[in-house]
Amino acid sequence: MLIDAHVHLDRYGELLDAALSEIEDKQIFTVATAMDIPSYLELQKIGERSELVLPTFGVHPRRAAEYADRLQEIGRNIEASPAIGEIGLDFHWVKDTGTYPAQRKVLEYFIAAAREQNKFVNLHTKAGEKEILDLLEKYDVRRAIIHWYSGPMDILRAMIDFGCYFTIGVEVLFSDYIKAIANAVPDHLLLTETDNPGALRWLKKTDEVGMPNAIEQVVEALANLKLSTAERIEALVHRNFVRLVADDPRLQHVRARLLNSKPKTRN
Ligand SMILES: [Zn+2]
Repeated sequence: MLIDAHVHLDRYGELLDAALSEIEDKQIFTVATAMDIPSYLELQKIGERSELVLPTFGVHPRRAAEYADRLQEIGRNIEASPAIGEIGLDFHWVKDTGTYPAQRKVLEYFIAAAREQNKFVNLHTKAGEKEILDLLEKYDVRRAIIHWYSGPMDILRAMIDFGCYFTIGVEVLFSDYIKAIANAVPDHLLLTETDNPGALRWLKKTDEVGMPNAIEQVVEALANLKLSTAERIEALVHRNFVRLVADDPRLQHVRARLLNSKPKTRN
């Protein structure tokens, strides 16, 4: 089964039905990451429509400043969520340095909760890579997905040594640096994502809406890069995701769903 471990399904608007049918048709297991509380509430509704969609609660670093004094509210939503994301730090695209203390406060609250409740996390790390690794180490949060990593190679290697998983996304189609990162990630830590619907629009500066089937292009690109086949990359990523959720009491339905899927034939 294909795995899209980082998607913003609540952003599809009128294309949501089309996105959900593509997820069913192509059998793409989808981790639907939230940006904030309203986004998570929306994703919970969307999650009821497909067994292949796992909604997770997080507050994106862009939204952290609005939530720095609402930790109790955050806490209630974390309790309700089987995993955590999108969370993280952004000291690059977020230019307002006044939000940085709030970003740190909110992220540390989430990481502490991940530790306490033993939930996996889905992380945005832009220019905060080292700080995030330090936090994962401090709280010993071992099940971490680093989404769209584009930071320094030495921190990448340290994160690999710590055992982080990495989602490679559509930028692998365009960027030599992302190709180098994808090559550096060992097979057992490799995952895939689209970060759609916005990722292609953002990369290509067009108004193209990224649909879920973009995950197939990511898998093809990884196959070319790693001198493998799409089928083998798909199977590898599937095995890695199963391992990520294997001992998680809240995600046994996900594990069962993944293990029951039959390898499909491509056309
Ligand atoms: Zn995202």
